[in-house]
Amino acid sequence: MKLLKKEVMSILREPESMNELVYFTQRGVGKGNVKAWARKSLCPKCKKGTMSKPVDEKTGKVKIRAKEYLCPECGYMIEKIAYEETLECEVIYTCPECNNSGEASVPFKWRTFQGMKSVLFQCDKCKAKIPITKKMKEKSNKN
Ligand SMILES: [Zn+2]
Ligand SMILES: [Zn+2]
Repeated sequence: MKLLKKEVMSILREPESMNELVYFTQRGVGKGNVKAWARKSLCPKCKKGTMSKPVDEKTGKVKIRAKEYLCPECGYMIEKIAYEETLECEVIYTCPECNNSGEASVPFKWRTFQGMKSVLFQCDKCKAKIPITKKMKEKSNKN
């Protein structure tokens, strides 16, 4: 059984850099913890460019608060939420309920769970629903 678990543990490839991600978090959840991320994907139209937030032409900086993603190769644009919901959220976790360590891959979708915006996944041992809640500061707008 231990061996089997190790095989499962090696499926996910951990991200090497924030540049390949649209989302990353690492935190405690109750008595357990989660590390989760969603990777940028290739442009669905030309399959060449990596969909990214647009760059401000004046400052050369990425517009972090942009409401859309843009393909640098062909200019295809997609609305932020619609784009993010096509991505997978990959999770490495220790279950707060049963202490099982495992991995999960779920759609990167924010749903309301116990009144909080969360990406939900399930412990594959005890089937507990584990929320990755959206941090409030990610929503605030300090400009
Ligand atoms: Zn493209
Ligand atoms: Zn569990």
